Amino acid sequence: MQTVTPSSKYEAVIGLEIHAQLATHSKLFCGDATDFGAAPNTQISPITMGHPGTLPKTNEKAVEYAITMGLACGCAIEKNNYFARKNYFYPDLPKGYQISQHTTPICVGGTVNIKTPAGVKSIQLNRIHLEEDAGKSIHDISDTATMIDLNRAGTPLIELVTEPCLHSAEEAFLFVTEIRKLVRWLGVCDGNMEEGSLRCDANISIRLQGEKKLGTRVEIKNLNSIRNIKKAIQYEIERLIEITETGGTIIQQTRSFDANNDTTFSIRDKEDANDYRYFPDPDLAPFHLTNESIEALRLKLPALPNELQIEWTKSFKLSDYDVEQLSENKEETAFFIQLTKLSTHYKSIANWILGPIRSYLNESSNSYEKLSLALPYIAALIEMVENNQLNFSVASNKILKEIIEQPQSPLTYAEQHNLLQSNSADEIEQWVNEVLAKHPDKVTEYKKGKKGLIGLFVGEVKKISQGKADPKLSTQLLEKKLAE
Ligand code: ADP
Ligand code: MG
Repeated sequence: MQTVTPSSKYEAVIGLEIHAQLATHSKLFCGDATDFGAAPNTQISPITMGHPGTLPKTNEKAVEYAITMGLACGCAIEKNNYFARKNYFYPDLPKGYQISQHTTPICVGGTVNIKTPAGVKSIQLNRIHLEEDAGKSIHDISDTATMIDLNRAGTPLIELVTEPCLHSAEEAFLFVTEIRKLVRWLGVCDGNMEEGSLRCDANISIRLQGEKKLGTRVEIKNLNSIRNIKKAIQYEIERLIEITETGGTIIQQTRSFDANNDTTFSIRDKEDANDYRYFPDPDLAPFHLTNESIEALRLKLPALPNELQIEWTKSFKLSDYDVEQLSENKEETAFFIQLTKLSTHYKSIANWILGPIRSYLNESSNSYEKLSLALPYIAALIEMVENNQLNFSVASNKILKEIIEQPQSPLTYAEQHNLLQSNSADEIEQWVNEVLAKHPDKVTEYKKGKKGLIGLFVGEVKKISQGKADPKLSTQLLEKKLAE
């Protein structure tokens, strides 16, 4: 009989609100820079401050980025948009209102797929809307005062809201990971959680398994790392179950995550609906999008990781692991695609990228941009290994770095440095004889039946030939000699 533990009695229900700072150079309604890390309060024109008499003007690039994200998620794009003022008092919001969208989010619906151990799951989006960010209150510089840096005020954000359709901390983790990958892929946000470019609020409730009605939710604000999102949600699910199991009542609350001890604490009890007195911003004209402008952006969408994965599995016969890895990073993907145009050894290209090329980039802190000049030579190097002209370890350890740092033909380099693999039977025979002469006792053991020793002999031949002996030929020759 299956035991019913409290956690199997309940189903967790999670809805996420993710804020992503758009990668525009200037703010949503004026030309102030959006650079991260600038000296405090140096990117704040009167428009950012909302001084009377100033007029905001919408940044078209930000609108474009929001639509691009929406199209990639299969959302419907709203054609008739307006910006609304969301009124509230907050020290880092000098205008007294945030410009956001209210009844016309620019993107509606849509889905994002995540790969869970139980299979692919489609996460439903409710909407994606555009809004401006607030400034930052800094509490840890002074013991007696809160410092305010308004540089961030007015930075364009998209807020992506899911339906309450996630059911575990793990799913939430996978979803945010997927969103970060997607915004980076599309180039609409740098996805940098440490710098606050991507932040997440998690709404969590529990209900009895099989129950349809949603339970009372709590909201954890401003989670700023993917690991914390997972920890905070896990902690909160357990806390809500504990309250319910001990006869308590869950109250709607806004909470915060304490990364020092992996717990959450209440910031405020939430009244049912905040009244923000939304109204259309009278300084900003409603903006209308045409079908043509939306379709033009759809045409500019890059192939998405999921689409590439399906294509590569089919036409290159690569494993799930390989396709997953090779569609992680856009520059790497582009490099892989270029190599597949120069060589048809797809699996080897994948191995080269995931192995020696990644190691080289890590060690040298170079980027794929640096590698682009060497592209044809890297393709030639891979071909040479496939054609048994070079041994893989010589090619990856001794030649790859050289032809990247000084783009040149791997064949010329290998010839100059005497690194070509030998398939001359005479030359290999000499190495074979040398090895057999050096290990008479192992030869005797082999002849008595310890056939596994062949690996040792092949390794020795490789060693004394400095990787130049073609291992297939040396194996054949060794077996022949040892059978004599
Ligand atoms: P608000 O305007 O107060 O932020 P929304 O209705 O826009 O509330 O919902 C915000 C997020 O909370 C959405 O992701 C939604 O899916 C999620 N959510 C709403 N109700 C619940 C609930 N009972 N349990 C879990 N998540 C919920
Ligand atoms: Mg909310």
